[in-house]
Amino acid sequence: MRSNMMSVPLTVPFILERARTIYAGREVVSLLPAGKDAQGQPVAQTHRTTYGEVADRALRLGAALQALGLQPGDRVATLAVNSFRHLEAYLGVPSAGFVLHTVNIRLHPEQVAWILNHAGDRVLLIENVFAAMIPAIKAACPKLEHIFVLGALPQALPGMGDYDTWVMGQEPLAQYPELDENAAAAMCYTSGTTGNPKGVLYSHRSTVLHSLVSAPKDALNVGEADAVLPIVPMFHVNAWGLPYTCAMYGAKQLFSGIFTDGKTLARLMQDEGVTITAGVPTIWMGLLNELDRAKADGQPYDLSKLSRIISGGSAAPEAMIRAFQERHDLSVLQAWGMTETHPLGTAASLPPEVDLRSDEGYVLRAKQGRPVPLIELEIVDDDNNVLPHDGVSMGRLLCRGPWVTDSYFGGEGASNFLTLNGQLWFDTGDIATLDGRGYMHIQDRSKDLIKSGGEWIGSVELENAIMAHPAVAQCAVIAMDDPKWDERPLAIVVLRPGEVTTHEQLVEFIAPRFAKWWLPDATVFTDALPIGATGKFLKRELREEYRGYGQK
Ligand code: ADP
Repeated sequence: MRSNMMSVPLTVPFILERARTIYAGREVVSLLPAGKDAQGQPVAQTHRTTYGEVADRALRLGAALQALGLQPGDRVATLAVNSFRHLEAYLGVPSAGFVLHTVNIRLHPEQVAWILNHAGDRVLLIENVFAAMIPAIKAACPKLEHIFVLGALPQALPGMGDYDTWVMGQEPLAQYPELDENAAAAMCYTSGTTGNPKGVLYSHRSTVLHSLVSAPKDALNVGEADAVLPIVPMFHVNAWGLPYTCAMYGAKQLFSGIFTDGKTLARLMQDEGVTITAGVPTIWMGLLNELDRAKADGQPYDLSKLSRIISGGSAAPEAMIRAFQERHDLSVLQAWGMTETHPLGTAASLPPEVDLRSDEGYVLRAKQGRPVPLIELEIVDDDNNVLPHDGVSMGRLLCRGPWVTDSYFGGEGASNFLTLNGQLWFDTGDIATLDGRGYMHIQDRSKDLIKSGGEWIGSVELENAIMAHPAVAQCAVIAMDDPKWDERPLAIVVLRPGEVTTHEQLVEFIAPRFAKWWLPDATVFTDALPIGATGKFLKRELREEYRGYGQK
């Protein structure tokens, strides 16, 4: 029997309307670049606006796009930093029936052009600080019809418009188009850590559901009283959905634009009373150093309002989680997800019986966490047999849920999907364990696994253990070829300034935690590790660089 509940399509305009009406007065704060200082470093200027104004401009943007003659489903690309203008695009582009395609600004211009062409973008909104890329993009992207520049330019460039003038020259959209909840609202490309970038299309429905589920206490804990600073870029999986989640629940939003150094971030958090912030571990290591330095100088920051540092994108080392908690009384919450999962899949919140500061608490928080509601996880072996959730069995992590992709744009990457017990699952490419309480723990990405004598060695655990050594700043563990075992672990380590240690000392330090055959055979000390566009170590490059290491 059918229920008699209304069938209301879940669409982005619901989020925009809440921001426009209920939360009209809530603040949106952005750091914008305002010239350079004597050392040539950009200087930040604080820009303040409200949800009411952002919503008004978002509706004007929607109308302006319609006036260009765009058809429903046409793609509008952004090459933009985190700011109120990007938020306008988040809300305005999908609400007018178009697809917001956020492009990673840290990619090489050739890759940017490849992605713009692949997505068939018709309009590009580009931040003024990247204006130098425009001629190359125009030359390489014949289908791109309109370019508008976000923020002032020293001089007008031919063939492109000023975003503010264009948007403010339109009346706000008077009526939302009829939107199918399953229509695409936004588009993101995978960052290509494991191959060519592939396009993922988020729907209106998945965006609304993801926002609803991200906010509760045991997920990201976002509410109206919060002030949220996503440092994760808005081009990276919708800044983990936070701009939508915050607008839906009325949290104040802060955007740090091009400023991601520890000092600027710590000051912004202190001055604006930030309660929640989100980013990758490399950002948190920078913040931790700055907090340690300020404390040692006797001028600690006051971050007493900061209740949660959300860490995702790569594994948060237990040593880092402990350092924030014990030295600064700050809680790191680890979360896991992917471009393909919108991204929120798991969050490492704790059951009530486990204390945040207990050893067990730290161990659980260093795992990726338990699935949020409506997300299902499984682990399987090479023959797709489901493995037990015993916390020990390692397998390929499969995922399904209403905000998990069922295919890629253009039908690529079909081998990443499989049917298990009659249901479609996405093969994440991660290797993980699951335990009886639901905690998922990533051991590696399938391409980074080290296969020694037919057995798997997880590089992530080794890295985290080595990074807990006081002399070590960064560590990546990769496979090196071995005539006997096929592959053996090689540690590549960046030491903290002024520190020294040896391979033998590092191995001795981690030995109590690992089976003997897991321990790295060698350690290379280097000045820096290659870091990709989303803040992760580029192990592919390291494998290239150290191919044949120790063989000569
Ligand atoms: P890409 O797949 O191109 O690196 P994504 O941002 O989609 O770009 O990355 C998703 C991957 O990042 C996951 O599959 C996982 O390997 C890794 N990842 C994300 N969050 C975590 C986490 N908390 N711990 C460990 N790995 C993580």
